[in-house]
Amino acid sequence: MENNDKEMTLGEKLEKKLLIKRKNGVLRADEETIDKADGYNEDYKAFLNTAKTEREAVEEIVKRAKAAGFSKFEYGKKYSAGEKFYFVNRGKAVILTVMGKKDISEGIRLAAAHIDSPRLDMKQNPLYEDKELGYFKTHYYGGIKKYQWPTVPLSLHGVIVKADGNSVRVRIGEDEGDPVFVITDILPHLAESQMKRPAPQLIRGEELNILVGSRPFRDDKVSQKVKLNIMAILNEKYGIVEADLVSAELEAVPAFKACDVGFDRSMVGSYGQDDRVCAYAALKAIFDADAPEYTSMTVLTDKEETGSDGNTVLNSSYLPYFINDLAKVYGAEGYNVMSRSECLSADVNAAVDPTFIEPFEVRNCSHINYGVVATKFTGARGKSGTSDASAEFVGRIRNLFDKQGIIWQTGELGKVDGGGGGTVAQFVANLDFDVIDLGVPVLSMHAPFEVTSKLDNFMCYKAIKVFFEDK
Ligand code: MN
Ligand code: MN
Repeated sequence: MENNDKEMTLGEKLEKKLLIKRKNGVLRADEETIDKADGYNEDYKAFLNTAKTEREAVEEIVKRAKAAGFSKFEYGKKYSAGEKFYFVNRGKAVILTVMGKKDISEGIRLAAAHIDSPRLDMKQNPLYEDKELGYFKTHYYGGIKKYQWPTVPLSLHGVIVKADGNSVRVRIGEDEGDPVFVITDILPHLAESQMKRPAPQLIRGEELNILVGSRPFRDDKVSQKVKLNIMAILNEKYGIVEADLVSAELEAVPAFKACDVGFDRSMVGSYGQDDRVCAYAALKAIFDADAPEYTSMTVLTDKEETGSDGNTVLNSSYLPYFINDLAKVYGAEGYNVMSRSECLSADVNAAVDPTFIEPFEVRNCSHINYGVVATKFTGARGKSGTSDASAEFVGRIRNLFDKQGIIWQTGELGKVDGGGGGTVAQFVANLDFDVIDLGVPVLSMHAPFEVTSKLDNFMCYKAIKVFFEDK
């Protein structure tokens, strides 16, 4: 029981008035909110299972967007308030827009998240045979601890473009009864020399070879019988030859499905929550935006995990081009629109891990179940590569969240000298938006199986929703 004001001492009164009181978000939320959060995460898990790569995410998002009343963006069309449309960039990034009541020249509200996740990409000449076993060579994508990836069942996703220009889609290892693939590791009995390697080399990049077959083709005239047999299967299934793998994008990801974690089912465990947890939140929020005051946009982008270089990333020009095209129709200049715009850069943060407490500065790092994380600045060691939201913009977002009952916390990616990292926030800030980082705390970030809190995930969606709805 809390003391009422009459029984409080002066110190207690001052404490209540002057000091921040941290409290677990579950204890701050009512039962109804917890129930809603649980419900929200059911569909989130389904989304994770369908959208395991950036291409699959875009396909699923477009499918859902159409069902939610979004139509394909038409260049030069003058949209009226409440109209909803989407624009796809090369099948790997998507912008969803709901026109606002205010003129676009007054600025837009943007939520940005990424839909790529750390994984293993196949090399251009992936298939080989060694000691009568068939393998795919990989080049890992994004920042991974390589030792985490062997002995994990993997599925294969992507596209193969054939010599005639036609392409085939690949998705094996996800459906019931599908085969999976795996990287092997040496048994402990024989791991003496491996165990002496420094951790980053416990498994080396060139040891991340995926086992893809073992049965030889029955023909004594052939030298590489296992490889030929695998290629014969691929030819039968997809109509491809080995040379077609040169023009392919094949990605191996963990084959397991998203599920609840814990006796209390309070958490979600899955591959690829960085950053599909925020992508899903931003998607749901834009679906809810009905004739908002300001034109609202969700951009879900690619290759954040490799540093945002390329033509499908937020450091490229596709977003400003799109805004320019849209602004022009209303007689506005794109740069004027962006200068008056605000962005929530929605990406995950590192949750304090009690088992590995050393890298965290617990007063400023984010905690599981303490709500969505608003991070003023990112970057590493002296804010290198930072996006640093102004005090004014943090103040505006803080007041908005508090007014709307959002359960939120502040965050920082570990100790100052501990490392660090950035998000797409800096690229949007470079376009002259006001930007703040927003996201959810994650345990085991970038591992094959990442953990988030259902309440935090739900609050991320709620935070973006009130941002779009704000007048
Ligand atoms: Mn991320
Ligand atoms: Mn990441």
